[in-house]
Amino acid sequence: MKLRSRRFILLILGTIVLPIFVYVIFSVSKLKENEQVIEQIYKEQLDAIIFSINQYSTDVLSSMIDQIEANFKNQTSEEDYKEVMRFTGVNALYLHSMASEAKFESLVKFEGSSLNENLLDSIYAANQPLIRKLNEYLEADYRKIEPMPVQLPELGQLFFAIIQHADGKNYLLAGLIDPGQYIPEVLSPKLQQVSGEELIVAFSDDSQDNILFSTDSLTHDVLMFEKMWLFTNIRVGLSSKTKTVSELVEERLKANLIASGLLVLLLITGVTLIIRNLNKEMKLTQNKSDFVSNVSHELRTPLALISMFAETLSLNRVKSEEQRKEYTEIIHRETTRLTHIVNRILNFSKIEANQREYRFVTFDLTELITGLLSDYSYHMNQHGFAHTATLPDQALFILADQEAVYEAVVNLLDNAIKYSPENKEIDISVVETESNVQIKITDQGVGIPADKLQDIFDKFYRVTEGDLYTVKGTGLGLSIVKHIMDAHRGMIDVTSEVGKGSTFTLTFLKKSDA
Ligand code: ADP
Repeated sequence: MKLRSRRFILLILGTIVLPIFVYVIFSVSKLKENEQVIEQIYKEQLDAIIFSINQYSTDVLSSMIDQIEANFKNQTSEEDYKEVMRFTGVNALYLHSMASEAKFESLVKFEGSSLNENLLDSIYAANQPLIRKLNEYLEADYRKIEPMPVQLPELGQLFFAIIQHADGKNYLLAGLIDPGQYIPEVLSPKLQQVSGEELIVAFSDDSQDNILFSTDSLTHDVLMFEKMWLFTNIRVGLSSKTKTVSELVEERLKANLIASGLLVLLLITGVTLIIRNLNKEMKLTQNKSDFVSNVSHELRTPLALISMFAETLSLNRVKSEEQRKEYTEIIHRETTRLTHIVNRILNFSKIEANQREYRFVTFDLTELITGLLSDYSYHMNQHGFAHTATLPDQALFILADQEAVYEAVVNLLDNAIKYSPENKEIDISVVETESNVQIKITDQGVGIPADKLQDIFDKFYRVTEGDLYTVKGTGLGLSIVKHIMDAHRGMIDVTSEVGKGSTFTLTFLKKSDA
């Protein structure tokens, strides 16, 4: 039986638990990888947003240059340029004919933001190949705006672009654009739209090492910064309003790990329950088969005695009247024992079939125990037992089935007698606590090993080790007592020490008003 149950447990472990464990371990190891992929995707999305901001800032400037070109073609007045420029944040414009070697001619200048024309000349001279490229692009119908990588912090960003005059000649347009004005005033509406509920767009000025502008106050680190296409010193970045991407990823990782942990815990609990149940079932099956052999043994002995003495009597083989009396008494005693065993089995099967009914009445427990002891003291004396009783002076009322309580106590007394081969002393006491009434039956018998205490109330269970092997029984007595106590919403407890004895306690709820 044990071998079979062990094999079954191994089978469960091998077929269910092991694969799930492997799967969970695999999933957990994969989790980290998945989170990295998510982080990567998220970063790519942010990258796309930054790209769109760059694209938009360039488009705005580009359309402003379109207008300048249109004005230039129409020979519009300086005031018209200023109008456009006020809108865009461009502070100064210089034009240089691509066809001639003529110097830069200042087209429009604003107060306080003029660019030193000598400096402009030197930048022009140093960037000839680039300017020619810009010209070629325009010839191919594509106007490129090129920020010039020169440090002009107090003047704004210098950019070059090529525009066309009505006479068909190309001019290099050199403009100054102030990011401190351009970003908050020109880009702001678009930035608010891009950032939405979750994000904050921030611009850092690398030359000053500070945040130039952000759509909201920054509460977390900026997740990524990318160079702006229009400004050589400005970078645009994104930050989260609530949590950073690594915080979000970490949170998800944690949640996933907790879920996996719970799954494993559930699995372990489930398997433990299955194994526990299985063990219980196996034990019960074992106990049942022991029960059959115990009962057969229990029945065979009295039946053999009855048959033998009845035969002797019927054949009139008795020598004296005294002997006849003795044999008749044996037959009577063994018949009583048989009746007792059969009654117990019938009683048990009634309980098993849920057919046992209890009649609850309020009665005095002291009186019931006093009566029971006077009925039972003869039996105890017959078995060589001395008993002491500690009963309260007053009546103690409980609501219970009298017969059932009587039966429970008798079962405990029977056990005390059965399992006390040497020290034949039994103490019966009735104790009153604040809300309960307890019956305690103490013997000085063999005691019960601590590891068996939780099993003795199971049906069919018997301790079959050591000296007890020879003591007869069915393993039903205590399970019947337990059932009675459960039906009374009471309790049965036991304390025991091997070789010293046991105390069984029945606890009932006190009924104060009789
Ligand atoms: P049975 O006495 O027929 O074996 P029970 O259900 O009454 O069945 O008891 C179950 C087991 O509990 C017994 O086999 C015995 O080992 C143990 N037991 C019960 N009462 C006592 C006691 N007073 N002292 C020692 N062991 C006891």
